[in-house]
Amino acid sequence: MEYRKNEVYVLTITDVDMDGNGVGKLEGFPIFVKDTVIGDRAEVKLVKVKKNYGYGRLVRLLQPSEKRVEPQCRVARQCGGCQLQFYSYQEQLKFKENKVKNNLDRIGKAEGYLLHPIIGMEEPFRYRNKAQFPIGRDKQGQPIAGFYAGRTHSIIEQEDCVIGRKENKEILRVILDFMKEYRILPYREENHSGLVRHILIRQGYHTKEIMVCVIINGKSLPYAQELAERLRKLKNMTSIMVNCNQEKTNVILGKKLTLIWGKEFITDFIGDICFQISPLSFFQVNPVQTERLYKKVLEYADLNGEEIVWDLYCGIGTISLFLARKAKKVYGVEIVEQAVQNARENAKRNGIENVEFFTGKAEEVFPVWYGEHKEAADVVVLDPPRKGCEKELLQTIAEMKPKRIVYVSCDSATLARDVKILGEMGYRLLEVTPVDMFPQTVSVETVCLLSKLHVD
Ligand code: SAH
Repeated sequence: MEYRKNEVYVLTITDVDMDGNGVGKLEGFPIFVKDTVIGDRAEVKLVKVKKNYGYGRLVRLLQPSEKRVEPQCRVARQCGGCQLQFYSYQEQLKFKENKVKNNLDRIGKAEGYLLHPIIGMEEPFRYRNKAQFPIGRDKQGQPIAGFYAGRTHSIIEQEDCVIGRKENKEILRVILDFMKEYRILPYREENHSGLVRHILIRQGYHTKEIMVCVIINGKSLPYAQELAERLRKLKNMTSIMVNCNQEKTNVILGKKLTLIWGKEFITDFIGDICFQISPLSFFQVNPVQTERLYKKVLEYADLNGEEIVWDLYCGIGTISLFLARKAKKVYGVEIVEQAVQNARENAKRNGIENVEFFTGKAEEVFPVWYGEHKEAADVVVLDPPRKGCEKELLQTIAEMKPKRIVYVSCDSATLARDVKILGEMGYRLLEVTPVDMFPQTVSVETVCLLSKLHVD
């Protein structure tokens, strides 16, 4: 049968792809349909037809799936940030477990490992400690805050993102009212005009301290003191800053920060370790799950106080410091200089002395260091970005022969590739625990324990 673009077909969704889109088959011909759920029966309009598959758009649900729930967010479909909000949380967790297992089995060719149930959240909403709202204008030209509609730069008004903190809404209200009253214009990307680009809000999970940062296309924010007067009245307000970003770029923050009220940072804890967080610092966004993730890392590292540990891709040293109390010595490597400085400050602030941090690429710093010192590690922790590890790095690790490797991954496909490579070098995958760091989205974090097969 010939399938034509713009025709409407009735389809039953039988599968879900890695990005959370439903997949149904028309006589064996797969159609990918956003916003549908396994088990849905729906009218679908074909929007693109390729040789072996097509894309459809949901027109009407004829019979909703039992797995389907009403999304808590009214703009879930347009925003596209939470690809799994149409699935019940139990189904989301199942999707993530399957994703990890499929990748490890198919790409990693892994066998005989123990896959533990995913660590989910009791309350899978309102978990993000950081929000970045783009500022735009409505049809009347009034300033609005919201999110970019999936893959576009048009802003959908939404001041109360359901995976963000409830406090955000009130903060945005104060800023938008201030902008209206003082006729301060939202940034306009088309012609690089206007002033206010984004509002960044961060909140300490344990301390409750709030930071607000207004990102502007200019050198200063007019009437900034008036804005500060209004914002500081809000509960837990700790830091109010302006960040200047005059570039034509998608990067949200510029380099220059000006304090307009309060402190230059907020603080928060992971376990009993205290961190200072500035608008520019990297900090994990789901504090509840971060702590669980790090506990798993600690468990897999199985330290007794005598070990030499390397924490590669260490960021601001959060895992390094978490492990340092239980190890003889921890070395961290991170490519971003600023993050390494933060890591050193964080170590000092917490009185942790058995850590040392290096700036550079893990795949360069680590082999050079090993070449010079020949000191072997007992445990290596890896937490790379999505693209995974470079082969040279895995090679050096294999030469060093640590007893255990703990691999923390935000992309199970590259994790599986690296597990296969490590397998060929004598490391066996023993245990895997997925952790749901980003409920409602398709992302899944995974912690793995690999162990040396034969120690010679
Ligand atoms: N372990 C940290 C951060 C993990 S995110 C935490 O849990 O918070 C991955 C980190 O790897 C980022 O900080 C990124 O800047 C860093 N990075 C990316 N490529 C790198 C490389 N080639 N060598 C070392 N670090 C790298």
